[in-house]
Amino acid sequence: MGFKAETEPPFSAKFLLSVVELSQRPVPRWREVAIGGRSNVGKSSLINALCAQGGLARVSKTPGRTRALNYFSVPKEQFYLVDLPGYGYAKAAKSEQTAWRAVVDRYFFDSRELVAVFALVDAQVGPTALDREFIEWLVDRQTPFRIVLTKSDKAKQSELASTIRALTELIPTDLQIVKTSADKLIGIETLRREIRETIS
Ligand code: GDP
Repeated sequence: MGFKAETEPPFSAKFLLSVVELSQRPVPRWREVAIGGRSNVGKSSLINALCAQGGLARVSKTPGRTRALNYFSVPKEQFYLVDLPGYGYAKAAKSEQTAWRAVVDRYFFDSRELVAVFALVDAQVGPTALDREFIEWLVDRQTPFRIVLTKSDKAKQSELASTIRALTELIPTDLQIVKTSADKLIGIETLRREIRETIS
């Protein structure tokens, strides 16, 4: 008789709505887990992998929704995955950055249901200036958060090591960093487990 590996099933999620004003947030007020990172960090791919649903997060790329908080509901487990608008478009104007900050700031200020933020950083690229700003901001606000490295399949060992070194200077020493790859399904079950722990 063999041992069966512990598995973490995918979240059974569906896209619910895009929110630009907090008054539009969904009812019931379930707990919320927010996922943030710069655009192109691999956020949509990660959400799709967590939910094992290929096209799920494509909605966040729809024009007009890139500045919104996209709510995915997970009715069985009674929580929302909140896809924060990606920051740091290469060609974004300063005004775009300011708009991003305003939306996200208001959300953080006024979201009692928010239980944790997962801040995504590209494993190969390491924390960019805007990633650093976002992480420092989370630390300052004392928002419970975790760092998630994306695209770890692309990063060499040396790149991964330097990314982790750079991040450990920014965050409290006891904070775990989860290494993931949506392509190779690395760390996805770990992340599902972490999310389940934060909402339980
Ligand atoms: P978003 O803008 O943060 O939502 O990023 P996307 O999920 O659209 O991904 C941006 C690019 O990175 C796409 O070309 C993806 O195919 C690629 N990508 C995302 N996740 C991974 C991964 O785990 N491994 C690799 N090699 N590429 C990835």
